[in-house]
Amino acid sequence: MQIYLDNSATTKVDKEVILEMNKFMGEIYGNSSSLHYFGREALKYVNEARNSIASQFNALPSEIFFTSGGTESDNWAIKGVAHNSKQKTKHIITSKIEHPAVLEPCAMLEKEGVSITYLDVDKYGVIDIEQLKNSINDNTILVSVMFANNEIGTIQPIKEIGEICKKEGVLFHTDAVQAIDTQKIDVNDLNIDLMSFSAHKFYGPKGVGALYKRSGVKIEPLIAGGHQERGERSGTTPVELIVGMAKALELCAKDRENINLKKIKIRDAFIDKVLTNIPHTYLNGHKTNRLPGNINISFEFIEGESLLMMLDLAGIAVSSGSACASGSLEASHVISALGVKDELSHSSIRFSMGKDTTMEEMDYVYEQLKIAVERLRMLSPLYVES
Ligand SMILES: *Cc1c(COP(=O)(O)O)cnc(C)c1O
Repeated sequence: MQIYLDNSATTKVDKEVILEMNKFMGEIYGNSSSLHYFGREALKYVNEARNSIASQFNALPSEIFFTSGGTESDNWAIKGVAHNSKQKTKHIITSKIEHPAVLEPCAMLEKEGVSITYLDVDKYGVIDIEQLKNSINDNTILVSVMFANNEIGTIQPIKEIGEICKKEGVLFHTDAVQAIDTQKIDVNDLNIDLMSFSAHKFYGPKGVGALYKRSGVKIEPLIAGGHQERGERSGTTPVELIVGMAKALELCAKDRENINLKKIKIRDAFIDKVLTNIPHTYLNGHKTNRLPGNINISFEFIEGESLLMMLDLAGIAVSSGSACASGSLEASHVISALGVKDELSHSSIRFSMGKDTTMEEMDYVYEQLKIAVERLRMLSPLYVES
C-alpha cells in the first residue's frame, strides 16, 4: 500500500483531464497560430479554455496569459514589473515566507539595484499588515505576497493587502499556486493585479500554468520569440496542456465546498490525535486559518528527513521542510521565519492531503508515525524521556 501525502508538491492528474488531453494529442494537433483548418480548430479550443479559466476568477479572457507554470509566472510578474518601470529607484515588497520562485527573482533584482523589503510574519505565518503599510513608499512599484503558503498552509489576508495596494496605487501580485483548488478567487473583489497559478497543483498536467494580468497593467515580456499570447509570452501554444488545465479547474470548482469540508474534518482529527498522543510535537501554521489539506508538524529531537525516510519505508509519502530544500541540510526558511526554536525548523514534516485522501488512510499514517517517532527518538542522543 502506498499513501500519497505530498499533494503540495504535485497532484495526480484527474482521469477526466487525461481523457480530455488525449483527444488533443491524437486528433486536434494543429498549431493554434496556423491559419488553416487544423490551426483554427486548435485555436477554438484554446479560446474556450481561456474563457473558462477567466470566468473562474471573474477575469476577462484577455487577462489570462498561458505560461509553463508557477515558476515562470512568478518570475515574469516580478521581473516584468521591475523591468517595465522607468523609475530610477525601484522598491518591491514581499514576504520572508514566499516560494523560491518569488524570492530568487527578487534576489536577482536586488543585484540590479532594486531594493526589496521582506515582510516578517507572526508565529502563525501571517504577514504584518502594519509593517506592509509602513513599508510602502514613493518608490514602491510592486507588492508580492503569496495567497497561501506551500509549507505551512497559512492563508494571507489577501483582501486587506489588495485594498492597501489599490489605495496606495501600487501593483499587487499574488502567487496563488497553492490556493487554486480550495479557494474561490475573485480577482476584482480582492484587487489582485497579477496572479500566478499552475495546473499540476490542482490535478492538471505539469508544465502549464498562467499569469492573470489585469487589463492596463504593463510588464516586460520574459520570453521573446514568435509573439504568441498577444505578443506578451512567446512559444508555441501547448493546446493539450491548456485544455487539460481548464478541465482540471472546472472540476475543482464543481466540488470545492464538499471536498474542503471533508479535508478539514480529516485534517483536524489527525492534528488533534498527534498533538495529544505524541509528546513534544508542535503544529506549524495556524489551527484554522490554513489550507484544508495542509498539516505541518514539528517533531522535537528528530530530523525531518529521517522521519520522511521511515515513513517512506512504511509506504507513506510526505515531505520535510520544502521539497526543493531537501537534500540540503538548511532549515526551512518558512518555519525559521515563524520564530520557533532552531531545532524545530529541522524537524518539521508536511502531510499534504489530496481530494481523495481518506480518514482510514490517515488513521494508518498516525499509527505508523507514532512507531517511527518512538524509534527515532530512542536513537536520538538529545532525547530524554519526560
Ligand atoms: C509549486 C509552487 C510553485 C512553482 O510552480 P511550478 O508550476 O512547479 O513551477 C510556485 N509557488 C508555489 C507556492 C508553489 O507551491
